[in-house]
Amino acid sequence: MTTTTAPEPNTAGQTAVQTFESFGLDARILRALSDQGYTTPTPIQAQAIPVVLLGKDVMGAAQTGTGKTAGFALPIIQRLLPLANASASPARHPVRALMLTPTRELADQVYDNVARYAKHTDLRSTVVFGGVDMNPQTDALRRGVEILVATPGRLLDHVQQKSVNLSQVQMLVLDEADRMLDMGFLPDLQRIINLLPAQRQTLLFSATFSAEIKRLAASYLKQPVTIEVARSNSTNENVRQTVYQVEDGHKQAAVVHLLKQRAEQGLSRQCIVFVNSKIGCSRLARHLEREGINASAIHGDKTQTERMQTLDGFKSGTIDALVATDVAARGLDIPDMPCVINFDVPYSAEDYVHRIGRTGRAGASGDALSIFVPGNDERLLSDIEKLIKRSIPRGKLEGFDPTGEKSRQDDAERRRQRGDLRRARGNGDEERPRRHEHSGSRQVFRPSDDPFFSRPYEPSASSSQVKPSEEIAAALSRGRQAPKRPVAALLGGVPRKS
Ligand code: AMP
Repeated sequence: MTTTTAPEPNTAGQTAVQTFESFGLDARILRALSDQGYTTPTPIQAQAIPVVLLGKDVMGAAQTGTGKTAGFALPIIQRLLPLANASASPARHPVRALMLTPTRELADQVYDNVARYAKHTDLRSTVVFGGVDMNPQTDALRRGVEILVATPGRLLDHVQQKSVNLSQVQMLVLDEADRMLDMGFLPDLQRIINLLPAQRQTLLFSATFSAEIKRLAASYLKQPVTIEVARSNSTNENVRQTVYQVEDGHKQAAVVHLLKQRAEQGLSRQCIVFVNSKIGCSRLARHLEREGINASAIHGDKTQTERMQTLDGFKSGTIDALVATDVAARGLDIPDMPCVINFDVPYSAEDYVHRIGRTGRAGASGDALSIFVPGNDERLLSDIEKLIKRSIPRGKLEGFDPTGEKSRQDDAERRRQRGDLRRARGNGDEERPRRHEHSGSRQVFRPSDDPFFSRPYEPSASSSQVKPSEEIAAALSRGRQAPKRPVAALLGGVPRKS
């Protein structure tokens, strides 16, 4: 196995700056790169492109955001160019390159890149993934494509329907192979690989080289060249990592605080917030919405259309906080992501590396902020620190007011100044929460809000001692004065007691 880790230094001891022209890429590809505004190859491109052009197998370790898609797509397009033709006959356009990815979003993204890089050529490409109608995919496959991007399950559906033939595949890419294994795709991968000619070029990319990945590589790669742009499991130096210690019931408030603080500091509010579970993901998105932050959840139970709409909304800036589970967020290409927040510490330390790889891309700087609950997350955090071989600095949430006590005091002070308090005393209103009047940053309560779905705060550390009715009252008066009288009437159907 050959290993290449860095471009060769020149005689002056400096690393030679490479250009896309120096790889001998076709003028049509260079034109597409110039349309994209790419001027210089990224390190993974500098290493992968010449090796793939030579037809060698590759085992590549590259974090997301390093430009690895162009690292494999450009040389594949170059190698297929002699076969490009404008014939209308499907027989003249068999699948020659197959790119497999673990998620629908990544498949769509890889396809989008391939289509851009090949746009001035006669090579055809398409993408197939589950969760959407098969018929348009079948039509595209039957017309014939040289480059097919697919998720494993849907590809096998098409194979079964005989809408695709893989017997002429010359190049196979396994993108984010570690995640494909994590998601249980190994049997599907084996079935697909059995359908391919044994004589082919195979490129395997993975953020980490676990023992399983090495086993997979040993089965399917022939004398691969190993390419690493950064130590596997390492994190990007451009990303400022911080951990904030928060009590369990205050995590949602902490995320709101961090997002609002960033906005106050003039930093971008746009952020991906990672949550470990689908239900937690929806719950947090709803909570952020109620706090006046444009948020949307993206997880595996959302339909493909919903996921695409959310992603488009995020990319166009109408959504500030993309609340996501790992599977949904894997490989999403969101340029210039300024901030990632871990609402939950991930169960797997490797997921931490992936998550924070969403920021600090292409040389930009970014923030990776993690909420940490002492007692719950210590072991997970220490696993992460072991994996990334550094300790993550602990931060302080300046001005954090998890129970809203401070803003209630500010509110009361304002009312006192306006003479409201005297009036309130006169009509016995003193103890009653003023449901539609609270500090500017908080939202007006809407009866449609679901108090169970987004428990906003725990009034005390001993939340387990809080009676259910008090919880509901606390939820209904979220961010406002805690009611001293039952608010059950607001829920409907419960007799009002004054
Ligand atoms: P990837 O790691 O392939 O998902 O790429 C991350 C981002 O970098 C994508 O938005 C690419 O369009 C962009 N990119 C890839 N290669 C280059 C390059 N050579 N110059 C500038 N941007 C690039």
